Amino acid sequence: MELISIQEAIQLVKAGVEPIGVERILLSAAYGRVLANDIAAKMNHPEVKISAVDGYAVKSDDLTLAAEKNFLKLRLTDTVRAGRMPKKVLNNGDTQLVFTGAPIPDGSDAVVMREEIAISGKNIVFKRAISSGKNVRDIGEDFEAGEVVVPKGTRMGAAEIGMAAEVDRSYLFVYRIPTVSIVSTGDELLDLGDTQPGKSAIRDSNSYTLTGLLKQAGADFVICKRLKDDRKSTAETIKTELNRSDVVITTGGVSAGNYDFVKEVVPEIGVDIVFHGVLQKPGKPILFGRYGENRYIFGLPGFPVSSAVGFLLYAYPLIKKLAGFKNTDLPRVKATLDEDFCRKKAKREELARVKVTYNLNEGFHAVPDLKMQGSGILTGLVGDAALMDVPVGVNNIKKGDTVTIILIKPISSFGEIA
Ligand code: AMP
Ligand code: MG
Repeated sequence: MELISIQEAIQLVKAGVEPIGVERILLSAAYGRVLANDIAAKMNHPEVKISAVDGYAVKSDDLTLAAEKNFLKLRLTDTVRAGRMPKKVLNNGDTQLVFTGAPIPDGSDAVVMREEIAISGKNIVFKRAISSGKNVRDIGEDFEAGEVVVPKGTRMGAAEIGMAAEVDRSYLFVYRIPTVSIVSTGDELLDLGDTQPGKSAIRDSNSYTLTGLLKQAGADFVICKRLKDDRKSTAETIKTELNRSDVVITTGGVSAGNYDFVKEVVPEIGVDIVFHGVLQKPGKPILFGRYGENRYIFGLPGFPVSSAVGFLLYAYPLIKKLAGFKNTDLPRVKATLDEDFCRKKAKREELARVKVTYNLNEGFHAVPDLKMQGSGILTGLVGDAALMDVPVGVNNIKKGDTVTIILIKPISSFGEIA
């Protein structure tokens, strides 16, 4: 199969992908979920004119001539508490004490703050004029009946949950969270704690890295399975997992080795291979296929950095799209390179591992460690690491040049952004 570019591969992964489905959940469980229906208001908010302060409701026209040298008195006729309706209309020459959140009486159009008046028997003394509407929350000033207060496709955060509560929605419809099966392959793989004579075995780190990446992408993982390099069980397991998960992610077994069975069995079990091989470094032999209506498989290479980068470039946006997110890609930002970067071959687009810092004045700065670029060197992804996008044809990038980096995880110096 011919190698394609990263951009083509991303397009192919995302083409025609729809959210996998909708479920009804309690509002209290909605944080981080993507809304599948508009949330609309049934009534105005506020429903009546409300005082924004503790003070005295007045007709602003009554106080037009009030000034430091011309105090004016109004007669106190009633008090209105929050949660109660006013009992009396406010007539010319009247004022009523109103508390924050209380509806203002009919006839009044402004509220003078309590701190600005003086009391004289049954009268209240005003020292200055007030404009109509001052300290009054108007009917519908937040939202009006029928208005969409949180649109479909919004990720529910704290304010959105609060808005849903304001319009009395105890339940919401959100997109279902995709389920993913992780299948690692390789005779050399050992689970944590297991031992094997000799030193030929390695720990299956990919399964663990992937559970973290799935969490970052907001997916649930169904199960992790570890397979030997065996044709029959590889075929059977992948088929079983495709039939119960939205996405299957395998690692290992997709390159040119004699025991690389994943790439061989996948077409035999009914997967349409969309691509196998991308002009990228690391992770060239990556495989992507579709199975049935809305199920997908990624055959990631076994090298720990290749599989992580493959996930971030392709599986991450797919999972986000399946979960109904509008923004599916990891953020790409400009950074200043702090040390020279060079490479001998420039036939593939490279996602070089860099260490990143950020501050408000200097923006992002990136430092590549040229000794840590191997696809088996997971150390390069530990800490405040990002991927620097080195285009095809570029061999050298100089210190001080501006580069594009992909932020693959929250960078500790500025909090969570991915
Ligand atoms: P493969 O893609 O199967 O040829 O594997 C490429 C390299 O990645 C080999 O050195 C494997 O030992 C290593 N590898 C494969 N699977 C894993 C895994 N699950 N965890 C860590 N390393 C792996
Ligand atoms: Mg292998």
